[in-house]
Amino acid sequence: RLDAVAIGELLIDFTPAGVSEQGLPRYEQNPGGAPANVMAGLTKLGKRTAFIGKVGEDAFGRFLTGELEKHGVDTGGMVFTGEAGTTLAFVSLDAGGDRSFSFYRNPGADMLLQESEIDWKRIGDAALFHFGSVSMTHEPSATATLRAAAYARREGKLVSFDPNLRPLLWPDLDRAKRLILEGLTYSDVLKLSEEELHFLTGERDLEAGTRQLQEQYGTPLMFVTLGPDGSFYRQGERTGRVPGFAVKAIDTTGAGDAFFSGALFRLMESGKRPDALTEEELGEVCRSGNAAGALTTTRKGAIPALPSLEELDQLIRGS
Ligand code: ATP
Repeated sequence: RLDAVAIGELLIDFTPAGVSEQGLPRYEQNPGGAPANVMAGLTKLGKRTAFIGKVGEDAFGRFLTGELEKHGVDTGGMVFTGEAGTTLAFVSLDAGGDRSFSFYRNPGADMLLQESEIDWKRIGDAALFHFGSVSMTHEPSATATLRAAAYARREGKLVSFDPNLRPLLWPDLDRAKRLILEGLTYSDVLKLSEEELHFLTGERDLEAGTRQLQEQYGTPLMFVTLGPDGSFYRQGERTGRVPGFAVKAIDTTGAGDAFFSGALFRLMESGKRPDALTEEELGEVCRSGNAAGALTTTRKGAIPALPSLEELDQLIRGS
């Protein structure tokens, strides 16, 4: 049996890695894809996880599958295609150190996952189903993702959703909003950034924005991550803020995914549905997420930076 399964995109993030002897830019090949990062995070904390997605029949697709396996994520539900290459993203740094992305996804293999290719058995075997919105930018993977979420919901799984909005990837932002809101109708646990809350509700105020979503969609538990300031939660009428951990951050890549894996881990360990958590337990869930996020910022990369349970407990106990 599985504790958790995710559906979503896998891609390569080529990040700047200095220059060659000839003065030419070098790039480092990093595995990317938020839902897969969350599964890797849960695995590192001791859960059994699997990933469902589509990659190209190429060296990059084999590399990504191998990376997930290396980190203990079951890849038996992955699909390989000769119809498109594995999605690539190149990260450039401008003079001020800000990052910008160029995507090679016209189409990318991840967008071509079809409903008929979904591994329903793995979803049926897992206690938790996780998804995001990058796999909803284009068809057929948009329909595949939403049908899988709807199935998980019907089967009584705990459904978690991190929209992880990447505006550059959407041909149309109205459609992004519509599909993300459809995703909400299947979700038990939602995680947003402050920008995503604003995008979905028009609100910058955490209380007002999350109340609006709660009233419209009845989402049992919502988190808004606040960078170094920690996180905010709403469970029905109950809201709270949990401060972050002070750490020396060197690379925030994957902090949001680490947060969600830490929070979902603690939620699963409680054995309770999200609406049954006490205020104290909600604090523990957010602290676990904050600690996982904070630890991830102290190391380079996404998956390699994810903390172990021992590191997580140590940071929480030491506070
Ligand atoms: P991502 O860039 O991965 O999409 P995000 O915007 O979803 O990230 P953040 O709010 O940046 O998420 O970070 C997630 C969590 O990680 C925060 O809620 C916080 O607990 C922790 N975190 C992030 N940055 C820091 C930091 N500089 N110091 C301490 N904790 C941090």
